[in-house]
Amino acid sequence: MTGQQLRLYNSLGRRIEDFVPSADVVGLYSCGPTVYYFPHLGNMRTYVFTDTLRRALRWKRYPVRHVINITDVGHAVADSDTGEDKLELAAAREQRAVADIAAFYTRAFFDDSTALNLLPADVYPRASEYVEQMIEFAVRLEELGYTYQLPSGLYFDTSKSPGYGTLALLDIAGQREAARVEFVEGRRNKSDFALWRAEEPGVRRVMRWDSPWGWGAPGWHLECSVMSMALLGEHFDMHTGGVDHRQLHHVNEIAQSEAYLGDGLPWVRYWLHGEFLLLNNAKIAKSSGPVPRLADLTEAGYHPMAYRLFLLGGHYRSQLDFTAAGVDAAQATLRRLVSRVAPLRPLPAVESHEQAVALLPDSGGEASKTALGYLDQLDAAIANDLATPKVLATLQDALRDSDLTPEGLRVVVASADALLGLGLADLDPAEVDNRRSVEDLSAGEVETIERLIAERTRARSEKNWPRADEIRAELDNLGVQVTDTPNGPTWQLR
Ligand code: AMP
Ligand code: ZN
Repeated sequence: MTGQQLRLYNSLGRRIEDFVPSADVVGLYSCGPTVYYFPHLGNMRTYVFTDTLRRALRWKRYPVRHVINITDVGHAVADSDTGEDKLELAAAREQRAVADIAAFYTRAFFDDSTALNLLPADVYPRASEYVEQMIEFAVRLEELGYTYQLPSGLYFDTSKSPGYGTLALLDIAGQREAARVEFVEGRRNKSDFALWRAEEPGVRRVMRWDSPWGWGAPGWHLECSVMSMALLGEHFDMHTGGVDHRQLHHVNEIAQSEAYLGDGLPWVRYWLHGEFLLLNNAKIAKSSGPVPRLADLTEAGYHPMAYRLFLLGGHYRSQLDFTAAGVDAAQATLRRLVSRVAPLRPLPAVESHEQAVALLPDSGGEASKTALGYLDQLDAAIANDLATPKVLATLQDALRDSDLTPEGLRVVVASADALLGLGLADLDPAEVDNRRSVEDLSAGEVETIERLIAERTRARSEKNWPRADEIRAELDNLGVQVTDTPNGPTWQLR
């Protein structure tokens, strides 16, 4: 590894730590989509964060084996133990077979992943293909004395798990009380969770398997423990997900996995969580209306990379509020970046820091020192817990720096993009230019714009600055950019 030590925020312990892999290949498991509906923009934020982690590991030349699971069974509504399966509900709603629902929304997830330029995972295991292994896993937990059976299924007894809830930072008593779970008849502790969800008498599930605890379906948490161990080995280095998983899903994955392994070692060493995307500063909730997805943005004329750039402008551990103005600004930044980079093409192929440094002429002259300085800045930024806003700022600085030679600049741009994944090497400038031209406007739209501009001029001449600002904001919302010249205001569309 060249450059700075990679440092990452580990949710287990809640501190920034050196990342030191335990094996030649870093095992990385990311909790994937529940394929009962389209992924929304928030879901995709979590996968863009995971992709940034992938790119950081590649930059540092750590080989990675990445698994993203596809949850096509077992995830009940409201993450509960006794509710209906999300896939079965969707099948009833859309009057389609469960398998069709899963296939259709899995495809939607892959489409968005491709559009956002996410590096593909090595494996995308389907939960429904691992049910036999899940049953074996639960049988083992039963033999070890961690479970109890109720008419509603087989439950994991969290009071038998000494470190239960460490990841969530909840003291044990607190966690037991706080766990946000529904009432289940006979459950010993509120935090106990279902390993197997038995069919209710007289209710036949659509997806059902026979098990030692009767016909039914696995609990949601089981799949991730089973599939990750099957594909990455019993212990592996990294596990990721959205920040909601830090409170429940990952807590339960850890409890059952460490009980199963029984070797006293932490199951997974690094747990990374991406913060949520908010909508109008509120949690994205299906109940608050349709949740926007990538296709809504592309239909409105935005390039998927504008959304990616919008996300990378925030740090993955900070909440980010989704606004039209934010994506507009990102689209404009992307357009400027691409038009600035296009004349530099072709860019060299760069994936790692080491490769980038090797591409610079080793003349030791000022120009290559300047380029090296930028590579160091990129390296320091990504090594500092994936500081993508700093990577972007460094790229912008380099593009303005007249001390860089074109060769040096090419290497710096290619390196920044190896981390950002915006596709700067070949994005077509025309493709990222979503500015409408004035000719596209209707006569009524032009009239409104000109009336607002006249009103603003009047407000300014009356020194009514608040009103003038208000009108400018209104024009801004319409995508109109006003420039004041000695001959009066002119305008254009952004
Ligand atoms: P799901 O398909 O519901 O299982 O969620 C897929 C991933 O998206 C999980 O890692 C969630 O933690 C994550 N997620 C859900 N809502 C948001 C959000 N608003 N912002 C970011 N990530 C989210
Ligand atoms: Zn999971």
